[in-house]
Parts: sequence; structure tokens; C-alpha cells
Amino acid sequence: MKLPKAESYKIKMVEPIRQSTREERELWIKDANYNLFNLRSSQVFVDLLTDSGTGAMSDRQWSEMMLGDESYAGASSYYKVKNAIKDITGFEYFLPTHQGRAAENVLFSALIKEGNLVPGNSHFDTTKAHIEFRKSQAIDCTIDEAFDTELDHPFKGNIDLTKLEKVLSENPKENIPLIIVTITCNSSGGQPVSMQNMREVSEMAKKYDIPVYYDSARFAENAYFIKIREEGYSQKTIREIVKEMFSYADGMTMSSKKDAIVNMGGFIGMRHKEVFDQASVFNILFEGFNTYGGMSGRDMNALAQGLYDGTEFDYLETRIGQVAYLGQMLKDYGVPVQYPFGGHAIFVDAKRFLPNIPKEEYIAQTLAVELYIEGGVRGVEIGSIMADRDPETGENRYPDLELMRLAIPRRTYTNDHMKYVAAAIINVYDRRNEITKGLRIVTEAPILRHFTVELEKL
Ligand SMILES: *Cc1c(COP(=O)(O)O)cnc(C)c1O
Repeated sequence: MKLPKAESYKIKMVEPIRQSTREERELWIKDANYNLFNLRSSQVFVDLLTDSGTGAMSDRQWSEMMLGDESYAGASSYYKVKNAIKDITGFEYFLPTHQGRAAENVLFSALIKEGNLVPGNSHFDTTKAHIEFRKSQAIDCTIDEAFDTELDHPFKGNIDLTKLEKVLSENPKENIPLIIVTITCNSSGGQPVSMQNMREVSEMAKKYDIPVYYDSARFAENAYFIKIREEGYSQKTIREIVKEMFSYADGMTMSSKKDAIVNMGGFIGMRHKEVFDQASVFNILFEGFNTYGGMSGRDMNALAQGLYDGTEFDYLETRIGQVAYLGQMLKDYGVPVQYPFGGHAIFVDAKRFLPNIPKEEYIAQTLAVELYIEGGVRGVEIGSIMADRDPETGENRYPDLELMRLAIPRRTYTNDHMKYVAAAIINVYDRRNEITKGLRIVTEAPILRHFTVELEKL
């Protein structure tokens, strides 16, 4: 018998979780104004709201915590992270920040001016918000294949070079401060970008003399997909692939809460001293002195170790295998899910799941609420609530895809939890024709409204 794959770690510490009743959940979600961000974690059984900061640290990371140096300036922990970043990404310069969006805030303060254009592949919500907050525009150049959830394409995160060249050739260079390539592309379903595409984007950017930055939250998962799917990379190690990926970029922003497997942290990696100098001013202003930037020494130590943990092949195989395990159970039953499966999450195509709900009634949010009521599983809407209103017209934006994302925290749940989640989704799927009414917004914030929106059932 062929031996099956199994987790590349064993468990040393556990945290109890509790199943609730349907009656309890109906009450709790109403009290939460049908916004899953308003639930208490104790009201959730399997929490797939996000994979951000929710992973389990390794024994090596915990032991590094004890060695943290809390000096205000020049802490050894700072140098540990600096060396790890240099070693893994190749970037000479680095600034620590408290999380990924803080890295965006600091870098964009240095680079982006009002009226600029920032092309990229389905910019992440905080990235887009930080661009629009500066009265600039994020231009989506993702390949069209990304928007067909059924189409099998190995690199749905790729940038369409024709779309990119159109932006670069039709606008003055001074208006395009950078190109942002998101690896993996979160908003389009955790889909990877190929090495070839990174190379081609870099060549085009050089031709137009525009820097390229990677939004790198899941760079290691992207490298795993390159190793598995792209010709010429199967014999290379994850770290060799990562090095090559970053060789095509001028810098990176990082949410360390993702592939660096820490509960809090972020950073900017840079190739050029001028950018480092400009960004340093804002880092000191917003985050803290350059050698800690919003992080404690112990957290920087855990981050340095996490960069190594997160770029191990066995770990990535376990993680991405678990995501696919959930995805395959759903796909086999006929539940419409984004395919191929992403690296960190399964995306359920809510439009095809709930064809009776009009887009004005927030299809993916309706589905996420139904799943919570069914089994205490918390997913998140990636759809028209998250898309916010158009800053100019004030109208709702309806994206091509209405998705319910089930993000899997790293090293946290077992495959039995995945079986439970699949069963809950399948139960909702079996009664999908009875779900005919969606939700209505009662109150909302002007930007990033999905975090605090209040809704009611129609
Ligand atoms: C999470 C994430 C961010 C923002 O990082 P935070 O740590 O949540 O502030 C930016 N880009 C991508 C692709 C992300 O996944």
C-alpha cells in the first residue's frame, strides 16, 4: 500500500473550542448585525475568517521569543530579522512595521502622490484603500481567466501584459510611481503568479523605467505553486525559487501574519537606499524607530524564525494539501468553488451557489451568514460589501465575482475540522433553493466598510 501523506508536525499545545446550537447561533448573528466580524470568537466553532495572524507558532518560534532583545535601538532581534530577510529575499534594506497595511502606509507615503495610477493584479483591499486614500487609482491588470472560477489555469494571479502595457504607454511615467504584483493574488482567490510572468513584468517595467514592488504576504505559497506547476522548477528548492522571484522586484511589502506565521508583524524590503531613506522618515513617524518599527524584540525573533519555517517544502505541502482536501470534498459534491484551489483558502462562488439572490442583496454575505447559522463556521465575504462604493460616484461597486472565502489558519486545524466544514457547506447547498432573501445595509463606514457594516435580513 502506498503510504499516505500526513502532517509534517505533531501537536504540543491545544486550545479548547466548543460547538454551539443552531438557536444560539441565530441569536448571536442577529446581535452581530449579520456582520461576522462582530461575532465573539467563543461563538465560532471553526474560524475560517482569515489566515492572518491565526496560525500556530512552532516550538522553535516560541523558543526564539525568549531570546527577544527589547532594546529601543540596535536590538539583536532587529539584526536577526534583517539577516533572515536578506538571506531569503535578497533585499538589502528593510523596515519593520506592525503589520502589512502599515508597510503599505509607510511605502506609499514615500512613493505615491495625488492623481497617480498604480497598476497591478487585483490589489488587496488594504492596498487599494491606501492608494485611494491618497486620491490615486489602482488599475487592475489581472488576466481575464482569473474571473472564470471554473476555468483550469495554473497561474490565475498573472498580470495581463497587454493591459499593463496599455497603462504604461498611455500615461506619463511621472504618474505611475510603482507597479504592485500581489503574490499570491488574494482577491482573485489565492491564485499564484508564474515566474515567467514576474520576469516579463520586470522586463516591461524596466523598459518604462517604473519600479515593481511585490505585495508578498503569501510569497512562499506562490513559490510552492511554481515548484509544482511551472516547467523547470520541480528540482529547485522553495528558497531558490523565492530568491529568483524577488530578483525581479525592487522591493516588497509584507504582512508577516501570513507566510511568516507570526501573530503580528510586517515589513518593507527594499533594494534601493533612496527609497529606504525616504520611507524611514514615515516609518519613524507612524511606526517607531527603524530598528523596531511597531514590533517588540521577541516578535521580531519569532518572525525571523517564521520566515524559515514558512519556506520549508514539507510545511507548505501539508498546508496547501489541507486547503485542497477541503476544496476537493466540496468540488466532488458539486459545490461551485474556485478552481484550481488557492494556496490559503477555498473560495465558494456565491453567485452560482445562490442564484436566487440578486446582487443588490449581497450574495456572498448572505451565504456566509447561512454557513455560520448552519455549523458555527465563520468565513468571510469577498464581494460587493468589501468592494466599497465608488469614491467618485458613491454608487455600490459590484465585482465580477461574489465569493465566500474560507481561509485556513496555518498549522491550526486538523482534517477532521475540514470534514466538518465541508458537511456544513453541503447542508447549506442542499437547501439552497429555500434561500431566496438576502440582506440590506443599515449603516456603513465610508472606506473598508466590510469590517463594521451593520445589516438586516430582508
Ligand atoms: C493581509 C494582506 C495585506 C495586509 O496586511 P495586514 O497585516 O492585514 O495589515 C496586504 N496584502 C495582502 C495580499 C494581504 O493578504
